[in-house]
Amino acid sequence: MSEISSLNTIEEIVTEVLNSIHPDVMLVAASKTRTPEEVQAAIHAGVKVIGYNYIQEAERIYQTIGNVVQWHMIGHLQSNKVKVAVKLFDMIETIDSVKLAQLVDKQCALENKIMPVLIEINSGKESNKTGILPENVDKLILKISNLHNLRLQGLMTMGPRFGNPEDARPYFKATKRTFDRLKKLDIPNVEMKYLSMGMSNSYKIAIEEGANIIRVGTKLFGGRKEN
Ligand SMILES: *Cc1c(COP(=O)(O)O)cnc(C)c1O
Repeated sequence: MSEISSLNTIEEIVTEVLNSIHPDVMLVAASKTRTPEEVQAAIHAGVKVIGYNYIQEAERIYQTIGNVVQWHMIGHLQSNKVKVAVKLFDMIETIDSVKLAQLVDKQCALENKIMPVLIEINSGKESNKTGILPENVDKLILKISNLHNLRLQGLMTMGPRFGNPEDARPYFKATKRTFDRLKKLDIPNVEMKYLSMGMSNSYKIAIEEGANIIRVGTKLFGGRKEN
């Protein structure tokens, strides 16, 4: 496939996905490994938010794309990258410990910035995955509600990756139940507004289960070399 036609394909697929979802559902283009031209094609077709997993890659792509879109951190955030992350991102979807929350809050205070954040839930309870276990989320939320430079706005989950996307449904359902329960607690400085779940193979199921942020990569851009 020539360069031009693959960029056209990205635009067509983005248009198709945007037309197929409710306008209240936010499409985050998971853009790891993509060229600036590919990301730009997605933006041209209507993508308003791009998600990155690695700070260095995001910094590099930022040079070309700039702030014409919102930037979401969707990968695990390391302590030594917090400073750059606070500068670059409009939302951090992957807060999963008190320590990380405190570091981000402190850096935001220095920068005079309020950072919208989501808590990443390890809904599959997989020991090799990032995210906080569902049973520990209440404690973390109460701590975050006291951090004045963070605005907790919801939850994010990956869920286990299965061949069959239907198998992810119970994990999405469980995360939605946690989301609804936390919303009812009505904690000060906590607004349960966004539920980020679903990827290329599972976003339709995630939306059925209440997601209003979906993070889609492969479906928009084609297969990645890694993974
Ligand atoms: C890569 C990635 C996605 C998108 O996955 P695809 O299968 O390419 O759609 C979503 N969320 C996170 C956290 C990712 O790292």
